[in-house]
Amino acid sequence: MTVDQATSSLPTLLLLATGGTIAGRGATSTSLNAYTAGALAGSELLQALPQLQGLAHIQVEQLANLDSADLQFQHWIQLVTRIREAFATSPELAGVVITHGTNTLEETAWLLELLIDDPRPVVLVGAMRPATALSADGPLNLFQAVQVALSARARGHGVLVVMDGQIHGARAVTKVATQGVGAFQSPDLGPLGWVDDSGVHLPGVSGARFVPFAPLVLPPQWPEVAIVYGCVDAPVSMVSALFKAGVKGLVWTGTGAGQLSAGECEAIKTWPGALPLMLRASRCGSGPVHPCALQDALGLLPAGTLNPQKARILLLLALIAEMERAELSALLASMAINA
Ligand code: ASP
Repeated sequence: MTVDQATSSLPTLLLLATGGTIAGRGATSTSLNAYTAGALAGSELLQALPQLQGLAHIQVEQLANLDSADLQFQHWIQLVTRIREAFATSPELAGVVITHGTNTLEETAWLLELLIDDPRPVVLVGAMRPATALSADGPLNLFQAVQVALSARARGHGVLVVMDGQIHGARAVTKVATQGVGAFQSPDLGPLGWVDDSGVHLPGVSGARFVPFAPLVLPPQWPEVAIVYGCVDAPVSMVSALFKAGVKGLVWTGTGAGQLSAGECEAIKTWPGALPLMLRASRCGSGPVHPCALQDALGLLPAGTLNPQKARILLLLALIAEMERAELSALLASMAINA
């Protein structure tokens, strides 16, 4: 669908709709928590935004219409394949906007950051209130995501997330609250910029972008990578159960700066073969996880400032790329993930 076909000089954008609360429908305008996510089509979201008329030709494709908790690897493969193809075959394309549920939006953003190598903006956007709510935040968020995707200033900054007038980078952004329109933050780094009626502001200078998995061909089957969460007197039997179930990678969400208990360290030693690739992240929500000789010796590489769900994505791609532990360690260092 094309929002405005009157002027052929308008820039072209691709809108990939995947569902989420931004496309949610509730029984009444005051139903803020009880609603169906992924009920409206991407084309309907655009129709509700006449303010976009005259800004761009927006081509909409409905890749899925789901609550983002239900996304699967096959959806990620579809998304990556479509974006790579669109950038490769459409030089006139200014950028890509993806409507997405907020619960796993940061995971998709980080996946794309690691795989899509193009200076044109890829912007993810969601909403905390369904489209049918009083003061729904989706329409303004989508309008601003389009503004950012069309902006020359947004080129070369990697994959971006636009929520509540803020522009976040894919690496740092995370959902920090279960409700409220300002539910996204970038711990440690802060947002990259903002968008308002004076335009798109990205004051930080972006350096050369390194896209480590740009050439990676994604197979239909992905390895299983589990996230384990540390806490007081955690049942360690879960670790051997995961090993027996054949997980290929583990992300350990340690206490503090990625700490494991003595019992957890012993449980890791029960792995019978070569250690799977493992990363150590933190449950704190901000601050780095540094190398630690004892835990490095167990095969647990520090995930730096990546949160557990993003560390898992890095690990998934490293496993698909058949990286050895030393290679992953070098990659973590070269991406300054340990900074
Ligand atoms: N349940 C929603 C999702 O699809 C939440 C949201 O979009 O805000 O992630």
